[in-house]
Amino acid sequence: MSSSLPGGRPPVPPEGLPDGEPGYRERTGNGAPLLEVRDLVVHHGQLRALSGISLTVYPGEVYALIGANGAGKSTLLRTIAGLHHPTAGSIAFDGKDVTGLRPEKRAGAGIVMVPEGRRLFPSLTLEENLKVGMSYARKGPWAIERVYELFPWMKDRRGQRTAQMSGGEQQSVAIGRALVANPRVLLLDELSLGLAPVIVQRIYAMLPQILESGITVLLVEQDVSQALRVATHLQCLLEGHVTLEGTPAEVTREQVEAAYFGVSSAASGGTTPLDPPNRSNG
Ligand code: ATP
Repeated sequence: MSSSLPGGRPPVPPEGLPDGEPGYRERTGNGAPLLEVRDLVVHHGQLRALSGISLTVYPGEVYALIGANGAGKSTLLRTIAGLHHPTAGSIAFDGKDVTGLRPEKRAGAGIVMVPEGRRLFPSLTLEENLKVGMSYARKGPWAIERVYELFPWMKDRRGQRTAQMSGGEQQSVAIGRALVANPRVLLLDELSLGLAPVIVQRIYAMLPQILESGITVLLVEQDVSQALRVATHLQCLLEGHVTLEGTPAEVTREQVEAAYFGVSSAASGGTTPLDPPNRSNG
């Protein structure tokens, strides 16, 4: 574990994961970073939401951002997607500076986000929502039929309006909509939000197939146990600062608690982030 970014770190598997699980994946390609964020500062009006965040994501990784409410995780993901403009700092994708690029250009380059809250069109059918994702699609292996292979229940219900679907089903549609754009890096913002643990497990079960298709994943997850299960690398944010970084095998529960809450609140015995509050309705 380290609190600064080590360059060219080796992939260390988290303990307890069988071979073949996402956490065991080797980096692909030539080892050059796919995504590099440097010294990012982002304001919402007067509020400084991110204060000099840096991170490096390599091809094939599952990079997890963790942290409490308001830590800045969504702001970071949305800034990478081009939805917020940074006050300072840079974002490079595949070696090219994309800091000034518009969101749709970034999507066309392969930076695609599944936003918090899914943001589907509720009055459109499942398949119509998937087609929305094709607007800025790159060429690649993902198409609607392949999404139906990943989530077999969808095919029979493709004509159903997404407003009539459960939270877990809607989350799967939001993932499918992102996949048909053929991302190179998939930004997943709080997949588990509002969903029962069993549904969260079911949704995360699709991750190996997504990784096998060559997609790299950067995810925000408040359920730290879930993040530790799937991540090859994690970073913890607190009030817009990086408080911890390392592989799941490197970090201890105590370090995560301290980084998540700040040392003083961890010492005073706050709710452990490894047992997050149950926010299920899905
Ligand atoms: P959460 O899990 O609650 O989404 P987060 O770690 O993703 O938390 P952000 O949503 O990035 O945190 O919020 C970081 C800070 O920026 C918070 O103080 C939040 O209130 C503020 N903030 C986020 N979005 C906006 C916005 N559009 N306008 C003003 N302030 C914002």
